[in-house]
Amino acid sequence: MAALRTSFRAATVGAVGAVTAYSGYQYYTTTHVFFTKAHAELPSDSKAALKKMEWKGFTELKLKSSEQVNHNVKKLTFALPDDDSITGISPITSLLTQHTPEGGFIPVFRPYTPISDNNIAGTVTFMVKKYPNGKGSGKMHSLVPGESMKFKPLHECDYKPNQFKSMLIVAGGSGITPIFQLTRAILNNPEDKTKISLIYANNTEEDILLRQEFEELERKHPERFSKLFTVSKLSHENDGSIEQGYVTKQMITKVWPGKQAGQKVLVSGPPPMVDAIAGAKGGFGWTQGSIGGVLKELGYTKEDVHKF
Ligand SMILES: Cc1cc2nc3c(=O)[nH]c(=O)nc-3n(C[C@H](O)[C@H](O)[C@H](O)COP(=O)(O)OP(=O)(O)OC[C@H]3O[C@@H](n4cnc5c(N)ncnc54)[C@H](O)[C@@H]3O)c2cc1C
Repeated sequence: MAALRTSFRAATVGAVGAVTAYSGYQYYTTTHVFFTKAHAELPSDSKAALKKMEWKGFTELKLKSSEQVNHNVKKLTFALPDDDSITGISPITSLLTQHTPEGGFIPVFRPYTPISDNNIAGTVTFMVKKYPNGKGSGKMHSLVPGESMKFKPLHECDYKPNQFKSMLIVAGGSGITPIFQLTRAILNNPEDKTKISLIYANNTEEDILLRQEFEELERKHPERFSKLFTVSKLSHENDGSIEQGYVTKQMITKVWPGKQAGQKVLVSGPPPMVDAIAGAKGGFGWTQGSIGGVLKELGYTKEDVHKF
């Protein structure tokens, strides 16, 4: 499997890189590194619709429903090939979309991370933020029920329960989707004792994605999960449950005990946020780069931190 995975990765990166030089792919090729010691296989459930084509081409899924979540985010639910099939993916896996824009001939590839439970039968759901003139997000937002998109799983990295004692996660904007997938998988597994502290930063309160879902996880697992939402612009009606401002050293120390053995820190968000929290990624985004920013000031090393 490891050899297959390596050859798949090399082949796909070559093909995709040649036509798009797309930085999102860097995420795929670099983020598996810190988890690879825990090398879980994908689920072997025969109902797994997407696992089946892991090494093959893309599978077309039809949009079943589309819901506007806020001014620039849609929740998109696609039908799996059979009512009783599941995605068959495991954390952390995104689905690479592929489409060729009208009038063009160069295909566009963009990854999106399912927010639906991997064991839900019949459908897979994404939360997609639309960027001005965004090729991938524009296409996803333009879809109406009945229209199709091509998907292929991108298994980013394996996670083994109890691999870490605790995780501090700093996320921003739509960088939250892989974090949600991982957090829910950890918390829904009673055997996994990992504790998670999430700091999630956005521009406004309206931009906070999956807010109810994270609040529910905190209610259900108060001893294992805590979250802090922070926004740049606070609305007047805020009831005190949301902080204001960028993620700072003070904000981190408020929710996090400081460096200890068995911790891992994950940072997932737009590049300026990742730079400020953990230092820039290296090699034009192809490598983790050296540690910097707030986490370096707090004494963390490169090995303690993973940048998405
Ligand atoms: C592994 C992975 C999983 C992802 N999962 C999700 C997901 O679940 N939901 C989701 O909405 N997105 C997700 N993304 C981001 C997504 O893949 C695209 O990068 C995003 O939709 C923008 O692509 P685009 O083609 O629309 O924009 P492009 O055509 O690439 O760019 C259009 C404009 O938007 C700007 N832009 C693009 N991306 C960003 C950004 N992140 N921050 C600020 N400006 C930007 C560009 O600079 C450009 O000006 C994920 C990315 C990765 C790497």
